[in-house]
Amino acid sequence: MNDVISRRQLLSGGAAAVASMALGQGCNIRERTSTTYDIAIIGSGFAGLPVAFKTTEAGLSTVVIEAGKKLSSTFDYRTSGSFNYPIAAARRIELGGTSARWGGVVGRMWPYNFTIRSTHGHSADWPIRYEDLDPYYCESEKFLCVRGAPYRPNAEPPRICDYPKSTKGKSVDLDLTVDGRKMEFFTKAVSSCGKGPLRLADGEIKRFSELPHGTLLEGLRATRLVTLDGKSISHITVRKSNGEESSITAKRFVVAAGVIESPRLLLMSQSHWFPYGFGNHGSSLGRYFCYHPHYAGLFRPEITSLSNTRGLRSHSLDTLAHAQSLNACNVQLDDAVLLKISKEPGLVAVRLSPDLTSSKDNLIFLNSGQRDAMGYAVPELHIEQTDVDRRTLAYAKRASDQIASKLGGDAIRWVGQGLHSHPSGTCRMSSDADSGVVDHNCRVFGMENLYVSGATVFPTAGATNPTNTIVALALRLGEHLTRQSTA
Ligand SMILES: Cc1cc2nc3c(=O)[nH]c(=O)nc-3n(C[C@H](O)[C@H](O)[C@H](O)COP(=O)(O)OP(=O)(O)OC[C@H]3O[C@@H](n4cnc5c(N)ncnc54)[C@H](O)[C@@H]3O)c2cc1C
Repeated sequence: MNDVISRRQLLSGGAAAVASMALGQGCNIRERTSTTYDIAIIGSGFAGLPVAFKTTEAGLSTVVIEAGKKLSSTFDYRTSGSFNYPIAAARRIELGGTSARWGGVVGRMWPYNFTIRSTHGHSADWPIRYEDLDPYYCESEKFLCVRGAPYRPNAEPPRICDYPKSTKGKSVDLDLTVDGRKMEFFTKAVSSCGKGPLRLADGEIKRFSELPHGTLLEGLRATRLVTLDGKSISHITVRKSNGEESSITAKRFVVAAGVIESPRLLLMSQSHWFPYGFGNHGSSLGRYFCYHPHYAGLFRPEITSLSNTRGLRSHSLDTLAHAQSLNACNVQLDDAVLLKISKEPGLVAVRLSPDLTSSKDNLIFLNSGQRDAMGYAVPELHIEQTDVDRRTLAYAKRASDQIASKLGGDAIRWVGQGLHSHPSGTCRMSSDADSGVVDHNCRVFGMENLYVSGATVFPTAGATNPTNTIVALALRLGEHLTRQSTA
């Protein structure tokens, strides 16, 4: 495939775009393609491609714009604060985005994750409910070829469909309680498409670009969303690695560039109508960044049924933690040898990945003192650990010790801290423009045709792996755009 223009575009109506880009070789000129797409999507990862499939399959001309590996070195960044979040390890700037690296563990948010503020008085509510996403979770799980063990009520969120593929899993009832609450465990579901988790660049992107209305433009970095009337986006500007600039016109735009680059693009696109970037009426743009730090410990249980355990997870701590105004936190038990944390047989690894506090002060902003290779202000990610974060971790560790002791083990030896890498927030979804960036349909407040897709819109992330929710929301957005475009 050509670096910039897919075979499909060469065949279908993309000639003007090709000509305008060829004109720009080696010099900085502004050219506008004569093609006006129905939908333009920035980013070819899990937040972008499912939207593209939905709209393209409905007959809407859809272009996916992807920076790709060649431009990855131009995406510089800085971090500050008490957590040094390693952005480079947590995302991929390449075709298919971070799907090239993800581990394939698939989870769903819980119904209670959507109403934390109204139930517990802290954090945030989603403007949609679990039931709104349930059908899209089913569709997402098909897309991700999910393999899961038989459903265990109370241990897993409710579901209106079975997993597309079944796995025997280990149905272990550990029959133990922590602080008066029974700990329900279930076996993690995984994406299993052929050899392993779905990697979008291995086939899905090609499948998209071969659809009659699908166009992939790889090797273009979106640098600005442009409005000419203060109400809608008319076009975006893009740059190639040689600096050449051109623009892409569409009726509707979706920013699906990840948790760092999506708010960055909205911030970079300042205009006299929006001096602080799009969707920033309530100063929420770039704020409420969250992720899942990861803590691991070891203990030796008395009961032998736990050896060979892989990915036994419980969310029962969530409710206990929320009731104390703490954050969500799951606890996971694995055979430490299978997980390669220890070589000693019989040891169980306990893993915790608490959610961070959804804090306005954990944010991405443009650091104009530092420029990237293309001359743009770099995004700086600033995270402070809050008192609630510290208390959540302390509580989760105490609860884990109770689990270990009830399984006949001694106190847990905590051995590691790392990155679970599930960034979220920064363009959060809300019921009003004062407290968020996008509405319940992922449309940027104040803009008629600008949408955001991805974990960046999550108001809260719970303690669940995010990709299933990212894809479910993207499929829902694709349907919404199709309805809007064909109404
Ligand atoms: C090591 C690791 C393991 C993980 N394991 C799991 C797991 O087991 N389960 C789970 O649920 N999640 C997991 N995740 C998280 C998961 O990978 C992400 O949530 C998901 O891939 C995010 O998809 P996305 O499309 O929102 O963002 P991305 O995949 O980051 O896609 C954004 C895309 O936009 C492109 N882009 C960005 N800016 C621009 C621009 N200006 N112009 C053009 N293109 C641009 C990027 O190149 C990229 O292709 C893991 C992540 C890591 C790093």
